[in-house]
Amino acid sequence: MEKFKLEYIWLDGYEPVSNLRGKTKVVAFDQFPTLEELPLWGFDGSSTKQADGSDSDCVLKPVALHPDPARRNGALVMCEVLLPDGTPHPSNSRAAIPHDPDTWFGFEQEYFFYSDNAPLGFPSGGGFPAPQGEYYTGVGHKNVGSLARQIVEEHLDLCLGAGINHEGINAEVAKGQWEFQIFGKGSKRAADEMWIARYLLLRLCERYGVDVNWHCKPLGADVDWNGSGMHANFSNLAMREAGGKEYFLSLMEAFEQVMHDHIEVYGPDNHLRLTGLHETQSIDTFSWGIADRGASIRVPHSFVENGWRGYLEDRRPNSQGDPYRIAGRIIETIGMVDPSALEETCPLALAETG
Ligand code: ADP
Ligand code: MN
Ligand code: MN
Ligand code: MN
Repeated sequence: MEKFKLEYIWLDGYEPVSNLRGKTKVVAFDQFPTLEELPLWGFDGSSTKQADGSDSDCVLKPVALHPDPARRNGALVMCEVLLPDGTPHPSNSRAAIPHDPDTWFGFEQEYFFYSDNAPLGFPSGGGFPAPQGEYYTGVGHKNVGSLARQIVEEHLDLCLGAGINHEGINAEVAKGQWEFQIFGKGSKRAADEMWIARYLLLRLCERYGVDVNWHCKPLGADVDWNGSGMHANFSNLAMREAGGKEYFLSLMEAFEQVMHDHIEVYGPDNHLRLTGLHETQSIDTFSWGIADRGASIRVPHSFVENGWRGYLEDRRPNSQGDPYRIAGRIIETIGMVDPSALEETCPLALAETG
């Protein structure tokens, strides 16, 4: 038997955005455990806005397991929070997502590194560095400084070491702003891994005395500096395999009909970011466009070329959004359209399976 350090990670009850919480349980196993072998655990919900002091027990139910490359015999255990009777806690946004292995998500997480209440690389005495232009995918000390890339690289290695489906990184449009992408097959997978990737970034940054600022417009709406999004790329089986313009247009009709319900779960303060400027559509307008980064939903060129098949990019979710709520809402809206009830079937789909 060996002792393993299991880091149980969960979302607390703070509004409008949950914080990540974690604590370590040491348990002996013959070898690295499976998810099924992990015990339920508990915590004091009165300290996380999830219970009253008089009845404070909440339950942690492991739902995803990864090795923790930063600790010997370490594991990262993503958990759902349950009430003592075993039902989901009201803060448990994951529990409401339908199980669907054929829905895929790719989230593009943007964020700022902060140090001394300003983005990393901003002048220490206050004020602004050179205007935006050369920072996006930039290289060199004047563009990315000396510390950010080191953190970003270490974070990438931690995610890959944990078996997280991390797909890439880039320096973003503002100084001190970065992005990483997480892709997952299954309605919950990308969101689970996004929360763990966020956890790993926060924990790594402790060592450098740097904060991660997840706010969607940390520099405010009145300056010419980009905000942070978390574009949600999504596809289901029908979009990938049958497709067709009629199905696509019906989907866009459904998305337009419930546009406000989407905005509600796409992260706080999004009116500061979705202004129609800085590669966004205005918060009051729903639009789609081919290769259009000023649309609510961007349709990749490849989607049209493949007979309106593939994935779409919802550009509205912001950097502070809960990927569980975002994924759940998108699945609900996709479910408003029944592709088998449509007239057109895509001839390309028939050709390929034939
Ligand atoms: P951009 O910055 O041009 O918007 P990125 O390369 O940063 O694009 O992100 C594209 C995202 O699309 C990636 O996260 C990727 O995983 C995701 N993606 C690719 N194919 C699919 C698919 N079939 N379903 C869902 N997401 C997808
Ligand atoms: Mn991107
Ligand atoms: Mn980006
Ligand atoms: Mn994008």
